[in-house]
Amino acid sequence: MKVTQGARSGAGRYGNDGLRTYLDVLSDLFYPRRCAGCESRASDVLCRACCEALPLIEDERCGRCGLPTAFDTPVCEWCKTRDYAFDTAVAPVRYEGPGRGLVRALKYDGDFAAASRVMAPLMVEALGERSCDVVVPVPMHPARRRKRGFNQAVVIAGEVAGRIGRPLVDRLRTVRRVRDQVELNASERRENVRGAFRFEDGAGGRKKVGGAVLLVDDVFTTGATLSECARALVGAGAREVHAVSFCRTC
Ligand SMILES: [Zn+2]
Ligand SMILES: [Zn+2]
Repeated sequence: MKVTQGARSGAGRYGNDGLRTYLDVLSDLFYPRRCAGCESRASDVLCRACCEALPLIEDERCGRCGLPTAFDTPVCEWCKTRDYAFDTAVAPVRYEGPGRGLVRALKYDGDFAAASRVMAPLMVEALGERSCDVVVPVPMHPARRRKRGFNQAVVIAGEVAGRIGRPLVDRLRTVRRVRDQVELNASERRENVRGAFRFEDGAGGRKKVGGAVLLVDDVFTTGATLSECARALVGAGAREVHAVSFCRTC
């Protein structure tokens, strides 16, 4: 802690430094946390300004990949040549500004309130008419999970599952370690994750997943990871797979 001149002399108690400390204590009481968008003091996950600036994706979007479009379309120009194993993908927010801030707050600061108070509610809203039997998170390689302490997709999926009243089935596994997708282009991403996931047997060797699956991740970039996870789920018996992520890089 920085010791100020005033505090050292004993005058700080009634001087400006003392007043500042007093205001800091009060601020901590009323604004106990930092806004995930701008890091100013806030009483909730986002301050009011960032909440209003959240880059929401409007209703007009591609029904297949969730890309924002000028008007509703079942398949867009961007995804019509892409071979996705999921039926649909949707995301409520663009990966920018406070949207990006929320993802980072959860991922790097372990701010679970970001998932429960903002991300999951918006994701459930974005699902619209889609229904599912189980909720499955995109897995993280065990080594990476150990390092971070948790898989953010599991945290978000748990919140979504609780809100829609469906069971969380955390049984997708990474078969091998994949490179971080961040520095890869679209075709490298597809190659990087090809065959990287499998659905783990349940109790008594039960392998079937069955029914409609809601696949959950934090960010949709090219859809390569979600598609490869969907492929593993379909291989394990899923009738349909709908993907939902909080953000889309657009
Ligand atoms: Zn803010
Ligand atoms: Zn599309």
